[in-house]
Amino acid sequence: MNNSDISTTIARQRRFFNTHKTKDILFRLNALKKLRKAIREYEHKIYQALYADLKKSKNESYGTEIGIALSEISMHIRNLKKWTRSQRKKTSLINIISKGYVYPEPYGVVMILGAWNYPLQLILNPLTGAIAAGNCTALKTSEYAPFTAVIIEEMLSKYFAKEYISIFQGGIEVSQTLLQEKFDYIFFTGNSGVGRIIMQAAAKHLTPVTLELGGKSPTIVDKDADIDLAARRIIWGKGLNAGQTCIAPDYVFAQKDIKSSLLESMKKYLVQFWGEDPKDNEEYPRIINERHFDRLCALMNSGTIYFGGASDRNHKYISPTLLDNVLEQDLIMQEEIFGPILPVMEFNRLDEVIHFVNRRPKPLALYYFSNDQRKAKEIIAKTSAGGVCINDTMNHTANLDMPFGGVGESGMGAYHGKYTFDTFTHYKSVMIRSNLLDLRLKYAPYKGKLKLAIIKRILK
Ligand code: NAD
Repeated sequence: MNNSDISTTIARQRRFFNTHKTKDILFRLNALKKLRKAIREYEHKIYQALYADLKKSKNESYGTEIGIALSEISMHIRNLKKWTRSQRKKTSLINIISKGYVYPEPYGVVMILGAWNYPLQLILNPLTGAIAAGNCTALKTSEYAPFTAVIIEEMLSKYFAKEYISIFQGGIEVSQTLLQEKFDYIFFTGNSGVGRIIMQAAAKHLTPVTLELGGKSPTIVDKDADIDLAARRIIWGKGLNAGQTCIAPDYVFAQKDIKSSLLESMKKYLVQFWGEDPKDNEEYPRIINERHFDRLCALMNSGTIYFGGASDRNHKYISPTLLDNVLEQDLIMQEEIFGPILPVMEFNRLDEVIHFVNRRPKPLALYYFSNDQRKAKEIIAKTSAGGVCINDTMNHTANLDMPFGGVGESGMGAYHGKYTFDTFTHYKSVMIRSNLLDLRLKYAPYKGKLKLAIIKRILK
């Protein structure tokens, strides 16, 4: 697709939006139902595509992609009528004899750019909110998950006209061409370097953005935690998609008295989950490409290998790996790992960890394991992160009643459930004024003290 094709498509989408058809609640409801039907129809092809891109098992594909997308859609279908209703608001004294409302309205033509690690749900979840809010949408799939990109395009083009939902496959050139267009909202998932490029491009048109980025999510295990359970839950979180998850535990901070028993338990669960040689395990995912494979292999030189450390470039395979004796200045602590390598550092007292976390960019997720609620509250109060999960990893994002998003370097804006609808909605304040009364208070001339005295009584 060349540049003028992209411009023509977006112009057609804008014309379609201006027909106001997408604002109709039944239209939106039907579109959501069609999306749900399409996913169900393509379920088998989606499994094949995710396996081809990342060697994701059916379990992971359903649990972390298809099922997530379906539950987001179902929640939007269930609540659409309620969420799209205008809300009556109280009138302020200054606006006496008037009615106040908040009208949810769509932005217009929005763009969603997805990343490769969850190539289906990172496109379909925001799309669900964009549809529900009444927008037209341009989608850009990730070039690093090409099989899933093809299926997304096939599936959506079968059910939706291009003037309503357009799909663009391809790499940076396609993104850059799209970014020259004026959109009314941009929703981006990817790394923080590209996030900066997106924000700069959006600034040209003063387009609002959501940036779903990543970072190093700390996982702190205190001495009073249930060590074995903590190990199981950390290894589960790190193991999903071979660690290629934005909220995966990036590094472990273990209290020094329990560090060796934690390492021992984590090793036990790695073997229990993936076997002695995960390379033969059909359910163990692969690294997305050679560039990331080489990057990850270089990171394994930090600290000492406690368990794992095997790799095979031909199969883009890296075994689940635990690194011990890792220090803050090691290479692995300088960037988001985004792979199946888990460095372990140790601490003495909790305030050291709090200080460490606060010296670094704000993470997307923070995990703390302890049975001491007072200390858990202290961690929550004294650190900042996109989200926090106490005594587990990643599960806080599986609650559609809580917003998911980053803060600072890990992103801006949030979605999931009602927050997805809100992201793609502008809440428009509307006041309907009566002509019965027109207080002279606000009009000039202001001379004399009386008007000021009355205003002071009202506005205080
Ligand atoms: P990616 O390579 O798929 O890139 C994301 C999108 O940006 C793609 O559509 C790509 O074509 C486009 N892009 C890349 N370079 C560009 C450029 N120079 N100009 C314009 N567009 C460009 O994804 P990635 O960045 O490799 O994904 C991994 C990162 O995403 C990690 O940091 C991870 O933590 C983060 N992530 C965050 C979330 C979240 O929900 N917060 C989810 C998944 C991934």
